[in-house]
Amino acid sequence: MIFRPFLFLLLSCLCFTITAQTYTRADSLRGALGPLRSCYDVTFYDLEVKIDAKKRRIAGSNAIDFLALQDIKRLQVDLFSNLQIAKILYKDQGLKFTREHHAVFIDFPETIKKGTKATITIYYGGTPIEAERPPWDGGFVWEKDERGTPWVGVACEGFGASSWWPLKDHLSDEPDSMRIAYIVPEGLTAVSNGNLRSKRKMAGNFNRWEWFVSYPINSYNVTFYIGDYVHFSEPYQNGESQFTLDYYVLYGHKEQAKEHFAQVTGMLNCFEHYFGPYPFPRDGYKLVEASYWGMEHQSAIAYGNEFKNNAWDFDYIIIHESGHEWFGNSLSVNDHAEMWIHESFTTYSEMLYMECQHNHEKAVQYLMSQRSSIRNKQAMLGPLEVNYDGWNGADIYYKGAWMLHGLRNVVNDDDLWFGTLKKFAAQHRLQQVTTPEVIAFFNKHLKRDLSYYFTQYLHHPHLPILQVKLKKRGKNATLSYRWQANVSGFIMPVDLQIGEETQRLLPTSEWQSISFKKISGELGFDMTKFLFEVEEVED
Ligand SMILES: [Zn+2]
Repeated sequence: MIFRPFLFLLLSCLCFTITAQTYTRADSLRGALGPLRSCYDVTFYDLEVKIDAKKRRIAGSNAIDFLALQDIKRLQVDLFSNLQIAKILYKDQGLKFTREHHAVFIDFPETIKKGTKATITIYYGGTPIEAERPPWDGGFVWEKDERGTPWVGVACEGFGASSWWPLKDHLSDEPDSMRIAYIVPEGLTAVSNGNLRSKRKMAGNFNRWEWFVSYPINSYNVTFYIGDYVHFSEPYQNGESQFTLDYYVLYGHKEQAKEHFAQVTGMLNCFEHYFGPYPFPRDGYKLVEASYWGMEHQSAIAYGNEFKNNAWDFDYIIIHESGHEWFGNSLSVNDHAEMWIHESFTTYSEMLYMECQHNHEKAVQYLMSQRSSIRNKQAMLGPLEVNYDGWNGADIYYKGAWMLHGLRNVVNDDDLWFGTLKKFAAQHRLQQVTTPEVIAFFNKHLKRDLSYYFTQYLHHPHLPILQVKLKKRGKNATLSYRWQANVSGFIMPVDLQIGEETQRLLPTSEWQSISFKKISGELGFDMTKFLFEVEEVED
């Protein structure tokens, strides 16, 4: 009989401190919802961009329809400073503007009265920044396919949509809908979010591809894919849910794609089962072959995983990025620092996909395979209002998924848990949500105050530590245990395994003890249900 926690880490490795990062005015201009941004609500973007793959330059315009929420004489939009602004028009009149970092301050000759609607059109162009390591480092991706045909895309999550088009680049404000047009050389296809409305010939052997997004859309989800694409589609139907699945892959990849993308229908069935109907049926669902690994671009997911399944027999990019349609695209955050909401729920959706396709045991094995990647060096919730993107590692993915898995086991009532999860997606459909709102929602619907639980995992880098003392006398033993956590009054069950048997304990921050007689087999904690560390302490 030995005490054998399945995972054991010394306390000393947790004594990790992070030096406070300083933020600049540029960070605040980009990340804060200052009065020059909160004074207006964008209702519609009308974006048109000509993309010149030879010169690696873009030129275009964006007409921004907005509702004045205050009397407005001046407002802020955003466009990276390496792109030039030719003019900004309001009622056919040129407007004065000044630029500071990536912000553009626009002055009106008259006051736009609160409650009225107005439109400004920004004409711009230049050489957009190229991505060094897409999709993790944002920017343009000027590639060529195997036959030397241009294959162009953009990924700008975190980096900012304002790296290539002018807009209010703050996650709190999504347009209600958006028209997106690309002018590209003949012979190339331009795919974007939403539905293709028209393709028309332009001067100089160019075509204009016009797409329309009929739902609110995150700024970083707006995208394009330009290349020598072949297109195929199929209908999707699952009860009331009905829409089209469209696939765009490079020339020569169609047969392989048809076979590989067969997993999409099963995935959508699973996600609709757990999270409710696909949130963007009018815009359909698309997978578009990209030269980078993947990105959750709304209704037009970037797919660059070379038609490969992982060791768990699914395509990570298809499953993960599609999960974002519910968590990230439909339900979205206001501030980039709260990206845990997008990534934790989406990573958790991978586990639920495994549970749906196979069984709970296999789903837990999948989750266990991600556990060793959890670093516990930074809080999952970042500082607000600076467009925070400073996470090292993937805790907002794996630790976040584990936090939710642990919560399911705290609740220990799957009907209540899954009912709540579905309500969470449904009630925040096409809406933004903040961290306190997520916590309040789960507190209310799970019918208990779980604020301490979320606070421990979201605000603190460290895991709760189960301190244990084991006293052995022959075949008898006494086990003492308590939680040591950053949040006072932390409480969470754990499952103690005694040989073949399991006993649920409810440790608190106070020492409790349990005695055993005539133990046969090993004592250990089940590490598959909750996320914590175990520390053996001396008396
Ligand atoms: Zn993701």
